[in-house]
Amino acid sequence: MAKITAAYQGIEGSHSRQVLSSYFEQRGVEHTANGAQTFRQVAMNVISGKADVGILPIDNAIAGTVRDGYDLLAQYDLVPISEVEWRMDHRLLAVEGASLDGIREIYAHPLVIQECGNFLGTLVGARVIPFEDTGAAAKTVAEAKDPAKAAIAPPEAGPLYGLAQLAENIADHPENYTRFMIFRAPNLSEQTRALGGRGAPESRKTSMLLTTAHQKGQLARCLAVLAEASINLAKLESRPRLGKAWEHLFYVDFEGDQADPRVAKALDTLRKEGIGLQVIGSYDVSRSTESASEQARDTQAQEVPVRHIEGWNPELLPSSAKHWPKASRASKPAGTRVTVGPVTVGGDDFVVVAGPCSVESRDQVMATAKAVRASGATMLRGGAFKPRTNPYAFQGMGWEGVTLLAEAGRATGMPIVSEVMSIDQVDKMAREVDVLQIGARNMQNYDLLKAVGKTTRPILLKRAMSASLDEVLAASEYILAEGNPNVIICERGIRTFETATRNTLDLSAVPVLRERTHLPIMVDPSHGVGVRRWIRPLCRAAKAVGAHGILVEVHPNPEEAKSDKEQALTFDDFAQIMKDLSEIPQR
Ligand code: PEP
Ligand code: MN
Repeated sequence: MAKITAAYQGIEGSHSRQVLSSYFEQRGVEHTANGAQTFRQVAMNVISGKADVGILPIDNAIAGTVRDGYDLLAQYDLVPISEVEWRMDHRLLAVEGASLDGIREIYAHPLVIQECGNFLGTLVGARVIPFEDTGAAAKTVAEAKDPAKAAIAPPEAGPLYGLAQLAENIADHPENYTRFMIFRAPNLSEQTRALGGRGAPESRKTSMLLTTAHQKGQLARCLAVLAEASINLAKLESRPRLGKAWEHLFYVDFEGDQADPRVAKALDTLRKEGIGLQVIGSYDVSRSTESASEQARDTQAQEVPVRHIEGWNPELLPSSAKHWPKASRASKPAGTRVTVGPVTVGGDDFVVVAGPCSVESRDQVMATAKAVRASGATMLRGGAFKPRTNPYAFQGMGWEGVTLLAEAGRATGMPIVSEVMSIDQVDKMAREVDVLQIGARNMQNYDLLKAVGKTTRPILLKRAMSASLDEVLAASEYILAEGNPNVIICERGIRTFETATRNTLDLSAVPVLRERTHLPIMVDPSHGVGVRRWIRPLCRAAKAVGAHGILVEVHPNPEEAKSDKEQALTFDDFAQIMKDLSEIPQR
């Protein structure tokens, strides 16, 4: 087949450009991509024959219908070939050396501005400037060489234009998908003939514009006709018809092909009933196309060579291993690494998670984030929902605390960890934080474990204070069994007869767990001993004994901490610990 020419809006490094490459690569089709300045220009290039196919966004999970996309397809009788659902991975990019607090201008595509409203709202000192496309925004920032400017663009635009990343995952919701439509001109050309129906579509879909007069029940009647024909609606969105008071235009997508007699009959009925219909066309649905970041997400649980498990063999497992087959090292002898944004737990680096026991105020969490980041922490912790023994003690700031933690995490470029206490918090928490912590008191709350197992967020599972290692592994199995492979186990001290320390930090758990499970193991010396001055030696010990990382509590002013003040480290204490750790080799 001859090489295909494709039109898209933007320049190299834009989302549309990435979608095109991925779409054609999957089909083994060679293509040339020509960037145009506007959506309309893309349509014109296809109509005039300058391009064989075009691509336009038509719908975004956060911002809604991209009306220009639908309207251009309808207006020029363009023929849809395939819809591609694409995860929009937005990064804040700037020149090397720029920092989030120094940014004064942010360039972004208008749709992207809508998708990232929450994040942009946290950057009070920065002006957001609409820009024609994400690639051009990145290029302009690179050329300006001004550390006060940043662009929102896909990850691929960073290396392409030599920009560094200041923040990632900045859309209002991680499940931020845009539906792009690949389309052709009404005349079928040699080049486009082969595209339709290729690549084993999962299904066919049809898009149409529908106008109803302002008559009682007309929309209900439409929906009834579609329902009677067993047609599933995939989208229904309305907008007023300008100049025609009370008349509405509906954007409708449904599952099925207009050539299917059942569908054709239903559409005919609608026409006969005086409903204005403009069918844009039927097309393939391909959800298999993945953005680079999505591929990265799939590799979150990867295999890495494990050093000190040399000589390991399945006979080292106790008979109880049959209760936790997915957690057992036998199922993955090389070990799991859990990727959280730029951080990998279970890989080559010793990971330090630090932050306050509880988020108490914007100043408190921001100051702590900056201090621990400056000393080398790579993830930020902070409790917003606190499991307190005393019901009258500070219970945490709740969702407001989560928002402040997220703000501090973004400002310092660190993924965030926070505890989820109940099933009804799980969905929202999974949208707002990078790692869901299951606290010691909830380790055996099996319904909660199942609920977090259904999310795609990594889970930090703390050992309960009276749980055997077998029980910890069984708890991790609950999460794995639901399909979430990203579990980190955390030893945080157990109850013994000893009263000198808050708990007894069971460091022997580390080599035992590393032998029995492929999951990464962290240690929390703060809750383990509960006394500030004993935390430092235990951090050293945790690294020496083979943990993949530690979790510690840090506060700008420990005396004023609203929870766990006896064990809160000062910024200085934390800096000392980081220095100590740098001198200990990782096992
Ligand atoms: C915490 O990390 O703040 C916490 C409450 O920990 P744990 O569940 O280990 O007591
Ligand atoms: Mn605590």
